[in-house]
Amino acid sequence: MTIGMPRGTYDVLPEEIHRWHHLEHLAREWARRYHFSEVRTPIFEHTELFQRGVGETTDIVEKEMYTFTDRKGRSLTLRPEGTAAVVRSFVEHKVYAQPQPTKWYYLGPMFRYERPQSGRFRQFVQFGAEVLGSSEPCVDAEVIALVDDFLRSLGIRQFRLELNSLGCSECRPRHREALLSSLRPVRESLCPDCQSRLERNPLRILDCKNERCRQLTADTPSILDHLCDGCADHFARVRTFLDRLRIEYHVNPRMVRGLDYYTQTAFEFIAESVGAVGTIAAGGRYNGLVASLGGEDVPGIGFATGLERLLAVMKAEGVESPAPERLDCYVVALGEEARATAFALLRQLRQAGLAADLDHLNRKLKAQLKAADRSGAKWALILGEEELSRQTIQLRNMADGSQEEISFADVIPRLSATMKAREQ
Ligand code: ATP
Ligand code: MG
Repeated sequence: MTIGMPRGTYDVLPEEIHRWHHLEHLAREWARRYHFSEVRTPIFEHTELFQRGVGETTDIVEKEMYTFTDRKGRSLTLRPEGTAAVVRSFVEHKVYAQPQPTKWYYLGPMFRYERPQSGRFRQFVQFGAEVLGSSEPCVDAEVIALVDDFLRSLGIRQFRLELNSLGCSECRPRHREALLSSLRPVRESLCPDCQSRLERNPLRILDCKNERCRQLTADTPSILDHLCDGCADHFARVRTFLDRLRIEYHVNPRMVRGLDYYTQTAFEFIAESVGAVGTIAAGGRYNGLVASLGGEDVPGIGFATGLERLLAVMKAEGVESPAPERLDCYVVALGEEARATAFALLRQLRQAGLAADLDHLNRKLKAQLKAADRSGAKWALILGEEELSRQTIQLRNMADGSQEEISFADVIPRLSATMKAREQ
């Protein structure tokens, strides 16, 4: 009996790892350029953190968490998203007492018990960033610009940005009342989830994926008509900053985002090349979250993007990741003595910074050369009895098959020089 992987998970095999490295490299590179520092929080947290920080009426908390009790009976949960833990860390280490704003990013696995389908996994990787300590609208635009630059640097072009404002504790209740009055009459026709959400969090009904619910809520009152002066002004200024950066967006008053803690700006980047799971990055402002997790009243905004979906979109748009790094040298040795010398040379090559390998199966010359070819190495270093007696090797350029004999002493300087020349 063989054991397979759990549902909703996947392996990244070495032949495709370069795609992941490319994504991760660009994520870190854009974080660096936008002056975000990496934070690493635990993979599991107290369940209560997500109940409070993500919200009791969200899909995540209602049905998607991997929750377990440890041996002491404590309830722990594999992190389903990054923001709650980042804020917990910010509060726990009293970072709010330091000069603000705080700009942090994270890159790592998240866990949600969802029905697996394309673009939806139970373990998936998110790159996300948070700015804490500034309520300025240009910060909202900066976070959006980071995502936009990151997506474009991956070669992704067919996406649109949707933007909304969810108001604040002053204006949201007014919209909530208007929404409730329009939804109560159709309550019985909503899906069971929405019926139960109606009184608790009617805004979330606009986010329901059920077709019938979408129709029933098509003409509900818009949040944008209910914004208070402060939120309306904030929204207008975010839009002005985006215009200045020439970032196009579509205002979508129905977009409410899945998480309970959002206030004011909410946004989603939606890819047009893939079907149902088109949202590739999403985020928004959460001015009440830090206080609700026991910190000072510090505003925040952030985003998260799922790397699996980005890879799927890149594939759909036909953009290639850069080719994987190739081996620099493959050492071919014949005979016991030559092998021993080659083995020492191999270590020198590696210590000089070259990626190098040799045949570990003690095969014949032809088989070794074939292995050298298969390895993709740029150079084969061939060492037989004769070369050994002359203290030389045959240096073969695998691209054109040309070969020359050089002395042992010249191998490292020669190869490191060509490698450097190529890198430039
Ligand atoms: P959806 O509406 O698709 O369920 P969501 O609102 O739950 O998305 P967020 O919590 O905002 O998603 O997560 C941000 C991003 O993380 C998504 O845009 C997506 O790229 C990615 N993501 C979320 N859930 C999954 C998953 N189960 N598998 C892979 N990627 C995911
Ligand atoms: Mg979801």
